[in-house]
Amino acid sequence: MTICYGGIDLGGSFIKAGLLTGSGKVLHRLIVPAEVERGIAALKDNLRSVARGLIEAAPTYDAKVAGIGVGSPGTIRFPEGLVTGATPNIPGWIGTNISRIFSDFDLPVVGDNDANCMGLAEAMFGAGKGTKLGFYLTLGTGIGGAIIIDGKLLRGASYCAGEFGHMVLIYNGLECRTGRRGCLEQYVNAGGLIRETRKRLEKYPDSPLNDGDLDVVGILEAFRTGDPAAVESVEENADMIGTAIGSVVNLLNPEVVVIGGGMSQGGDRYIDLIRQSVFGYAFESTTSALKIKVAEFGNEAGWIGAACLNIGQIN
Ligand SMILES: [Zn+2]
Repeated sequence: MTICYGGIDLGGSFIKAGLLTGSGKVLHRLIVPAEVERGIAALKDNLRSVARGLIEAAPTYDAKVAGIGVGSPGTIRFPEGLVTGATPNIPGWIGTNISRIFSDFDLPVVGDNDANCMGLAEAMFGAGKGTKLGFYLTLGTGIGGAIIIDGKLLRGASYCAGEFGHMVLIYNGLECRTGRRGCLEQYVNAGGLIRETRKRLEKYPDSPLNDGDLDVVGILEAFRTGDPAAVESVEENADMIGTAIGSVVNLLNPEVVVIGGGMSQGGDRYIDLIRQSVFGYAFESTTSALKIKVAEFGNEAGWIGAACLNIGQIN
């Protein structure tokens, strides 16, 4: 009988989950709609049935679930998974104690922030494996980050260390959903890239991007084919992200920076632009041992990292 670990990644649209062995082998995966619009009670029921599904699936792999980890958006107090801060995609979620949802399950359940989980997956079994000090960021609708030192997450005094998206890039800049100003996320997330591309399209009426709705996949595709509006906005986007990473590199002097999230699939040229920018902005001595890599687990990093929360803690 193998010991395995359940991981659950709660997103605004889907709950992704699976079973992982202590050596990082994926045994089982499942995905169900989160149905957050049906309210918190229904969401808790969905989480419980996902956890039950994991426990029931384990014996088919001759395995037993030793514990379950849950990754959630917002500021999450580890280990009990108390939701203490902003979760715009899940109204009413603040104040929830995640482990208590499973209090009648006969196994430990812990909760942590979703970006922390993604970072942990990459640090333990992905692009950051074998490194001692890494910074892990996610680029998508939201911008998240995680700092992992000697295999341990740096969670911070009130559990929000690594909030990369709220690093201030522009003094007195655009207003963030938290009411603060100039946060990186407002400029470089999926919405920021779309907004900046739309502005540029006024200069390029012949661009095919003028036809139909703009989305990140289409903009990155147009960037690869040399569309001038897309090239200008993607170059600027990469440079802003690289500037912010450069500040992190100056602060932490990491061995590795791992870039994940939907936008990290933008291709080698996009990542190269970010890399060039980091090496241009970070102080030279901080980059002599630095590697910048793309995340390996894609949209599975969340649940894999949530499962990792228990590895080494229990067996
Ligand atoms: Zn902010």
